[in-house]
Amino acid sequence: MREMAKGGPTTSRRGAEGLFERVESLVEVAMQLPRGMSDEEVEGLLRVLPPDTSRSMRALLCPRFRDVSLDFIAMIGEWVQEVRRAKSEGRKVVLVPFNFPPEIIYLFRNAIPLTSEVMTTLGVSVLEGQGERYWDYAMGLGIPDYLCSSSTIELGSILTGRDFEPDIIVQSAPGACDANSKIHEFVSLHMGIPQVILEKPTEATSRGRELHRRYFMAFMRRLEEMIGEELDEGRMREVLEEANRASDLYYELYDLKKFSPCPVPNIFSIFTYGTRFTRWGRPQAAEMMRSMVELSRRRREEGAYPAPEEVARCMWLYIGYYFDFLGFFNWMEERGITYLNDILSLCQPRHVDTTSKESMLAGLAEASFEYPMTRQMGADSMSLSWIEDMSHFIRDLNANCAIYSGHHACKQTWSIVNQVRKEITRRTGAPVLCLQGDSWIRRMTPTSVLQEEISSFVDNVVTRRRRARERP
Ligand code: SF4
Repeated sequence: MREMAKGGPTTSRRGAEGLFERVESLVEVAMQLPRGMSDEEVEGLLRVLPPDTSRSMRALLCPRFRDVSLDFIAMIGEWVQEVRRAKSEGRKVVLVPFNFPPEIIYLFRNAIPLTSEVMTTLGVSVLEGQGERYWDYAMGLGIPDYLCSSSTIELGSILTGRDFEPDIIVQSAPGACDANSKIHEFVSLHMGIPQVILEKPTEATSRGRELHRRYFMAFMRRLEEMIGEELDEGRMREVLEEANRASDLYYELYDLKKFSPCPVPNIFSIFTYGTRFTRWGRPQAAEMMRSMVELSRRRREEGAYPAPEEVARCMWLYIGYYFDFLGFFNWMEERGITYLNDILSLCQPRHVDTTSKESMLAGLAEASFEYPMTRQMGADSMSLSWIEDMSHFIRDLNANCAIYSGHHACKQTWSIVNQVRKEITRRTGAPVLCLQGDSWIRRMTPTSVLQEEISSFVDNVVTRRRRARERP
């Protein structure tokens, strides 16, 4: 396979078949779209795009938030281009999973993070045929289908030997998600790409945190060696002050979600973590967060809402579905169903104390200990940590229902979901719907089936309960 990679078009854009290269070509075009496009111009563009790409672009270019989507496309496009340039500039590309703060990689001038799950989501949302061929390739190698599609689609593309390859792989999900850890480890061993592991003890006591801090410091020393650069306090401060600015705006957006009807478009959840997982620590993250806050604030002032009323304020207990933005995020919004947040958009970024190198490293160790998924699925009691967090957010954001969209790879979440469902309903009164499907693979459960289940849950459970409460 390495031979194939050497002989294959890994550096040439011609005949590229890898997910990264195909996404790169498309975002380059999408980045040319100007702000303020008319509906007619958008319609003309959508007609010349392949059907899968056209459907996602239709969702993103929805007039309600079109210019913010263009900001998001620009931010992601610049990131993809910077990753591409990094190699020729002699900088290292570090493949990270989504449960790892990317600002840690930005601390180094000579490195840039490439986030597996974000690349998969981009591929699934903008490529014709979505990510299916890369998933099938990985399955063809004998990789079991209970690995997570979120990472396996992008890593399957790397495994073909015909795509852009990172220089270093970070693995930071051991204990929280083996499905995630193992595919990163497999690619590292199979492709000969060096790997660095950040482990997290399950104990959230002072002993567990101290042990994690020591693992984290060793991890940072190893990164310094692999990247060939010593951490510089001035650069660290510059990056973390940018991260803190983005965090302030994150909390403004979070607070706006408390209003009913919710002025924040559903799709901003994915924009939030698309930003958190790629650009936190660079000025582009704060710019993107500001763009979302400003539009949401304006919508609140104008009372703009796409449905006659907000019928359901829904907390997604884990993650959403990414293969059909139009039939998922936008459809719910137009039916008055608010996608308040999910476990990833509830990343609750932490302000890092930038006084000294030590305080910054301690803050980052803490941020990675408390990162979404790591915090709940890597806790000493997965169910308790998950129940407590979600119950808190359901109350804080005044959600009146919750949905769990489990998929086949998430064995650990499935194993406790019944307990989680009962306890969340007992503590908050919010009924919980459990859906089956795969967030990145449409073949598992089509959108129409998901829509039917969501509709009947909202109509038969959420709305009835609300009416019963409102009756004198
Ligand atoms: S916890 Fe579930 S969604 Fe998250 S990486 Fe693991 S298998 Fe995928």
